[in-house]
Amino acid sequence: MEQYEGKSIYNGIAIGKIWFYEKSEQQVKRVKIDNADEEIKRYEKAKEIAIAQLNQLYDKAVTDVGEANAMIFEVHAMMLEDADYNDSVYNIIQTENVNAEYAVATTGDNFSVMFAEMEDEYFKARSADVKDISERVIAALAGVDTDAGDMDEPVIVVAEDLAPSETVQMDKTKLLGFVTRLGSSNSHTAILARTMNIPALIGVDIDSSWNNKMAIIDGRKGLLYVEPDEVTLAAYKAEQKKDEEARELLKNLKGLPDETLDGKHIKLYANIGSVADVANVLANDAAGIGLFRSEFLYLEKTDYPTEEEQFAIYKTVAQNMAGRKVVIRTLDIGADKQVDYFNMDKEENPAMGYRAIRICLDRIDIFKTQLRALYRASAFGNIAIMFPMIISLSEVKRIKEICEDIKAELKENGIEYGEVELGVMIETPAAVMISDELAKEVDFFSIGTNDLTQYTLAIDRQNSKLDSIYDSHHPAVLKMIKMVADNGHAEGIWVGICGELASDTTLTETFIKMGIDELSVSPGYVLPIRKIIRQTRRGK
Ligand code: PEP
Ligand code: MG
Repeated sequence: MEQYEGKSIYNGIAIGKIWFYEKSEQQVKRVKIDNADEEIKRYEKAKEIAIAQLNQLYDKAVTDVGEANAMIFEVHAMMLEDADYNDSVYNIIQTENVNAEYAVATTGDNFSVMFAEMEDEYFKARSADVKDISERVIAALAGVDTDAGDMDEPVIVVAEDLAPSETVQMDKTKLLGFVTRLGSSNSHTAILARTMNIPALIGVDIDSSWNNKMAIIDGRKGLLYVEPDEVTLAAYKAEQKKDEEARELLKNLKGLPDETLDGKHIKLYANIGSVADVANVLANDAAGIGLFRSEFLYLEKTDYPTEEEQFAIYKTVAQNMAGRKVVIRTLDIGADKQVDYFNMDKEENPAMGYRAIRICLDRIDIFKTQLRALYRASAFGNIAIMFPMIISLSEVKRIKEICEDIKAELKENGIEYGEVELGVMIETPAAVMISDELAKEVDFFSIGTNDLTQYTLAIDRQNSKLDSIYDSHHPAVLKMIKMVADNGHAEGIWVGICGELASDTTLTETFIKMGIDELSVSPGYVLPIRKIIRQTRRGK
């Protein structure tokens, strides 16, 4: 038995045979041609086939994983229509009198290098996409179907890397899990894995000799076992069976109150990034939304979302949640979330740089547009607003003044708005240390343990080399959570956690005993946490 470590993308156990997936990288030869016009026609036809495939993939992905995750295929189809890309292919065919395959491969390589060298993270990420689309066209030119082949039996897919197009094409009923050497936890592929509830590991030192061998993915510990021994296999099979039974049993918890044995009610909410996620929130019976990461609306666009666009989205979410609480976080961009139309300078230290509320208080027009949309939507449901990356009392006072201005404007124009709770995220050590003062100013605190861990331990949360010491259970982090709960309660406000730590079932009891009032988790974690809440007694 061999054991390997990787970074877990999705919790869970997968047991099965490995299918070592190798991309059929097509060997492209440079061939002289006589008729450039004919060759361009061949290219145009292959491009049409590729676009038709991408449209089909888009439709499949919308059904399987929702519109937001399917967008990548729309982007690929658009890239194939890009004038610069097409001009490059035509030029190479015409000036060098060469075959379309060679022109597409050369264009793909050139564009890929160009994107990879760009500073903007969004464009950097397009480097892999442009290779992906070029390979698709080359396959169409050769009359080959690139789409990941049919898997005969359920398998664990092991690959160097997986493009989103490959992941989504795999038959979900036959995909037990996947393991890759490359990729990051923020890649589209990782997002798809989580959305599809597939155990997955990245950063594993893979080997093609594993093909057809038995393996186990342990997504909880980030481990891969190849050719596990009988004892390990039996233990994981038993654990997997227990997981399945537990999942079935959890369904019985739908509709039950989130209440401890001694009667403390916990607000058990879910985190979302788009309107499409609301269905998952409702299916898992969350009592509300504790974190709507509104920046994803900005990340998906090529220009600033207008007040009307934002209003429509916030209103839809509020209405669908039918009176349940919806906590919307204002724009939290910067650091790893770069939006090119904001035209921000490159920074030496972006996690500690120009981001989140700092941008909003600097570029008030953007902030006010969002706040107006939020207040208008508040007439249609139970909206609360929270502000990220707070470090000072003066920031909060300024935010409250701006909110008052917005309300006054709306009133003057006869536009309705509802009662809106205002809260702050506690995700910097500074906010923790002044939480006694902040608590006097707001209606609630929501602790962002992802950033709080990063800033408390001085460990970049994006750095995969430091994953093993990025420890949200560090006593410094836990003591801070307790301090925030106490300071919040001293002023009579509710205190929640919306970082990933809220989903950590090993800490649910601890949080309840600390007095935490709200836990906001990925929709899939709502029922497991409900179970623990209902078995917990706060004690003395
Ligand atoms: C956090 O920092 O814990 C948080 C919830 O915000 P994000 O992960 O979006 O930075
Ligand atoms: Mg954060």
